[in-house]
Amino acid sequence: MVEFNRVTNCKICQKIGSSIYKRKYTDENIVFFLKEYYGIKKYEIIKNRIENFDFNLIKCNSCKFIWQEYSPIKKLSSDLYDSVIDNKKSLEKSELKFKNNKNKYNKEINLITKQFKNIKINILDFGAGWGHWLNSGEKTTYSPYAFELSNMRKEYLLKLGINVIDDKQIKNYYNFFHYIRLDQVLEHLDNLQDSLKLIKKLAKKECIFYLSVPEGNQIFENESKIKIEKGPIQPLEHLNCFSRNSLKKLLFQEGFLNITFLEIISMHFKSLLRGKISLFLFLKDIGECFFSTSIKFKLKS
Ligand SMILES: [Zn+2]
Repeated sequence: MVEFNRVTNCKICQKIGSSIYKRKYTDENIVFFLKEYYGIKKYEIIKNRIENFDFNLIKCNSCKFIWQEYSPIKKLSSDLYDSVIDNKKSLEKSELKFKNNKNKYNKEINLITKQFKNIKINILDFGAGWGHWLNSGEKTTYSPYAFELSNMRKEYLLKLGINVIDDKQIKNYYNFFHYIRLDQVLEHLDNLQDSLKLIKKLAKKECIFYLSVPEGNQIFENESKIKIEKGPIQPLEHLNCFSRNSLKKLLFQEGFLNITFLEIISMHFKSLLRGKISLFLFLKDIGECFFSTSIKFKLKS
């Protein structure tokens, strides 16, 4: 069975890249990481299916973008996310994160709803996981939607009162959302353009699109720092490693512009006029606006 799709050209500019780190999947560091991360028993599910392939990181110098040459195709990928990853552990982790961040999430949602006067807006968390972020706001001001494929998560989301959309129903929601969140998702996806084209269709013209991926800066600064660990180039899962520039370049190509410093000031000012402002969130937004791979975008007009 073919388990991987081979990607030799840059996913952003299509140029040929150069390999910066290549090991067999039988390399002891990689095997150690996979056993630690998934557990020895779960690792056995994928062991035979990956052992003849290389973990090869390729870099495009003109985009400052890194990708894994071999990306798992559908069967391996769904086995990985449905059977290999421990769902119980993942839910516990998400619940703990929710407990510690509930207030912050609530403020984030508040800032969004304050941008739209006197309407109940539609918020989509694309790849919502267990839906804890979506569930943190005051539901009178927005309708929460999750795009999620895993059955276990879908059931959980429905119990929370979140509307769940999958790839069959998604076409009914074109030009529907005021805010779309893609948090720690794009690094997992094989086809970047298709996903962003879909987001563009789902967005209303005034939509705010929040995109966050792991920071790859350290790796771009010093390739010898590449380590096999949970992080921006994690084997099998994090297929794409972005710099801030490559993220903005890709989004620009697909019809998005990053929200400017002045627009961020204006968003928080609006929120202040409508009753609520969070200094913490304001500083976070300013920091992200200039320095991070967590960026707010709007559609090019
Ligand atoms: Zn490129």
